[in-house]
Amino acid sequence: METVAPLEEVLDLINETGGESFKFCYQCGLCDTVCPWNRVRTFSMRKLIRQANFGLTEIENEEIWRCTTCGRCPDRCPRGVDQIEVGVSARRIATEFGVFPAPVKPVRGVAAGLVAEGNPFGEERKNRADWAKGLSVKPFTEDMEILYFSGCYLSYDPRLKKVAAATANILNKAGIDFGILGSEENCCGESIRKTGDEELFKRLARENIKTFIDHGVHKILVSSPHCYHTFKNEYPEFNVNFEIVHISQYLFELINEGRLEITKEYGKKMTYHDPCYLGRHNGIYNEPREALKKIPGLELIEMPDSMEDSLCCGGGGGRIWMETPKGERFSDLRLEQAMEVGAEVLVTACPYCISNFEDSRLTLDVVEKIEVKDITEIIQEVI
Ligand code: SF4
Ligand code: SF4
Repeated sequence: METVAPLEEVLDLINETGGESFKFCYQCGLCDTVCPWNRVRTFSMRKLIRQANFGLTEIENEEIWRCTTCGRCPDRCPRGVDQIEVGVSARRIATEFGVFPAPVKPVRGVAAGLVAEGNPFGEERKNRADWAKGLSVKPFTEDMEILYFSGCYLSYDPRLKKVAAATANILNKAGIDFGILGSEENCCGESIRKTGDEELFKRLARENIKTFIDHGVHKILVSSPHCYHTFKNEYPEFNVNFEIVHISQYLFELINEGRLEITKEYGKKMTYHDPCYLGRHNGIYNEPREALKKIPGLELIEMPDSMEDSLCCGGGGGRIWMETPKGERFSDLRLEQAMEVGAEVLVTACPYCISNFEDSRLTLDVVEKIEVKDITEIIQEVI
């Protein structure tokens, strides 16, 4: 197995795929100051950028897989370096050379599942719509108002199937004419792209785009900020433009327009965690908060590190599939922050955040102290 790439080849590949922004870095280290890794261990994006400048010759280095693409550092760079793009480019090079250090190896299994069944778990494609059994959810047809794209985690993960069910119940209650693609739905491809597997991303994207066009889809409702981000900002690379709505935006709209009526109280203290791909990457901070504020009895408290400064859950950039040792998990820090501000419920709007927070609830042994909910699960209880 090749583990060392020739210098010229690496520089050419980074130039081709990551742009040339890394050349402007003057090593100020501001990126390292804001990076959440430096709260749990040392990690230096600055050093990776320096290596990119001088020739990244050791691509077996685990550090290139560490960035969660949380989006905190690109906004802070005084030289306009796109650290995420440079980091993903380094991963593309490693993927091309077949280099996967031990903590990254599970990504190979994920890729195999995506190729064979269109989901990272390798679950059977034909079972993709099982979450909707008994919920009066129809297959999508062209005359419908909106396609609900549930995504992989809400389709297969037992905890997150509850979020898909809550979404369907809300849509039915609001009288929305919606449908799903079921076994014709494929992973959106966002996270596998961030691990460096550009070819697989393109394959998944092309298959989804073809399915959307064949079914006459115009407007797509998503639960995952990762689906949102890639449909809205990355699929246009294929010369298509669909109208993309995240469920937190849609809930706010439905409540405001009177299509969804809140009839009950929710008498708990709650704090909202901004998912990186909803907040920082797409600027959606207010709609989820405003939707929650409409609920009588609910007290919304802010944590430190919220909105633009939100703490990452640790699941972006394909890290959701990699092992992060105990003591280095951002989700543990976030759960502690939520409990410190006195929240009884940590609410969010992303399947990766929910998965990581639920894991932390168990490993920190705080199941009795705090609940973790998706925003749809809260709304479902008050309509
Ligand atoms: S913030 Fe920008 S200029 Fe400063 S070290 Fe990081 S990449 Fe380089
Ligand atoms: S994007 Fe986030 S995780 Fe990645 S280097 Fe920047 S601050 Fe760190």
